[in-house]
Amino acid sequence: MNSTSISNAYQRLIEIGLALSGEENTESLLDSILREAKSLANADAGSLYLKTDTDSLRFAIVLNDSLNICQGGVSSEPISLPEVPLKNPDGSPNMANIVSRSAIEGKTLRIDNVYETTEFDLTGTRRFDSLTGYRSTSFLSLPMITRNGTLLGVLQLLNALDDNGEVTCFDPAIQPVIEAMASLACVALQNRHLLDEQVRLKIELEDEVTNRTRELETALSELSEAHTTLKEVTTIDPVTGIRNRQYFDQMYDQEWRRALRQQYDVSLLLLDIDHFKKVNDTYGHLAGDACLKAVAQEINGMLNRPSDVVARYGGEEFVVILPYVSANNARHLAEQVREKLARQSYPGEGHKINVTVSIGVASIVPEEQDRPRDLLSRSDEALYRAKSEGRNKVCVYGE
Ligand code: GH3
Ligand code: MG
Ligand code: MG
Repeated sequence: MNSTSISNAYQRLIEIGLALSGEENTESLLDSILREAKSLANADAGSLYLKTDTDSLRFAIVLNDSLNICQGGVSSEPISLPEVPLKNPDGSPNMANIVSRSAIEGKTLRIDNVYETTEFDLTGTRRFDSLTGYRSTSFLSLPMITRNGTLLGVLQLLNALDDNGEVTCFDPAIQPVIEAMASLACVALQNRHLLDEQVRLKIELEDEVTNRTRELETALSELSEAHTTLKEVTTIDPVTGIRNRQYFDQMYDQEWRRALRQQYDVSLLLLDIDHFKKVNDTYGHLAGDACLKAVAQEINGMLNRPSDVVARYGGEEFVVILPYVSANNARHLAEQVREKLARQSYPGEGHKINVTVSIGVASIVPEEQDRPRDLLSRSDEALYRAKSEGRNKVCVYGE
C-alpha cells in the first residue's frame, strides 16, 4: 500500500466516521461498520461479533462475497452459526479461537495464512471451508473496545484480495486504519446505545406519566363520587329518607338569591301533620316513624319538579321550596297535597294510619330589602292560622 492510498484510506475513514454517526439504528450501523471495514481492507469476507451477557461472542453479521453470503445486520437472512465462547468449560480463557483470543488479549491479530499456523484451533474454520468449498486464508481480527475498556465485540476480516482479485495477506499498513475504524465504530455504537436507551427511557417515562395520570384521574373521580355520595348522605334525613333541614337551609339561600337576581316568584309551603302526638300515643313510636316516612315520601313524590325542594323541617313538619311558583299556584299545589294525604291511609307497624296536614303558604318576588327568614315566618304564620282554623287546611299568608 503506497502513501497515496493510505492517505485516501484515512480520508475515507473521516467520511465513514461522519456517516456512522448518522445511522438510524443499531442494525444498519453494524452493517455499515462491517461493509466499510471490508471495503477499506479490500477483504473478500468479514464478520461482526457482539459480546453477549453470557461471556461469549455472537455473530451479528456475516458477509462473504465469493459465497454470496449476506446474513444478519439489515439483511433478512438470519445467522445460524454458534456463538464463540470467551471461556473454556474449565473457566480458562478461550485462546484457541482467533476471534475470542483477540477479544481476550484486547489486540489485533493478523494472520497471513491460517494453513501455516498451528497456534489456533481452526476446526471450526476448516469445517466451514470443507462444507462451503471456500478456503479461508488470511485473517484480521480486531477487538472493539471502548475508551473505558468495555469489550463491545470483534470485527473480523477474511481473505484480503490483491488488485487481481487473488487472495493475499492483509497489508500491515492497513491495520492501523482498520483499528481507527474499529474505534470509530465503538463510539458510534455507544452513541447508538445511548440514543436507543434515551428513546426507551423516554417511552417508559411517557408510559409512566400516562399511567400515573390515569391513576390520578381514577382516584380523583372516585374521590369525587365518594364526595357526592357523602354529600348526599349528609343531606338526607335518616328517618324519612327525604332531604334534611341542613339541605333546605343551603338551597333556600341559593334559591332566594337567584330569585332576587332574576326576579321571579318563590313560594314556601310549611306542612305540619295534625295531631301526630296522638298517632304515637295510639300506635307507638315505631309506627309513628313508619307513618312519618310514608307521608314524607308522598309529599316528596308529589312535588317533584327538578327545582322543587322538599325537606323535613323538624319533628312532623316539612318544608317545600317552589321556585317559579306564584302564590295562587302554590295554594293549588298545597291543596292537592292536603287532599291526597287526607284521602289515603299510611302504613305503620301493620296499622293503616290516617293523617291530615295543615299547610301554610307564603310567596314572594324577593327585593333587596326582603329577608329569607321573613318569608319563612309568613309561611309559619299561615300554618298557625290553618291549625287554628281547624287543621287539615291550607292557608295562604296575606289572604
Ligand atoms: P298539631 O296538630 O298541633 O301539630 O298536633 P301534634 O300532636 O302533631 O303536635 P305536637 O307539636 O304537639 O306534637 C308533635 C308530635 O310529633 C310529638 C312528637 O312525638 C312527634 N314526632 C316528632 N318527630 C317524630 C319522629 O321522628 N317520630 C315519631 N314517631 N314522632 C315524632
Ligand atoms: Mg309540629
Ligand atoms: Mg303536628
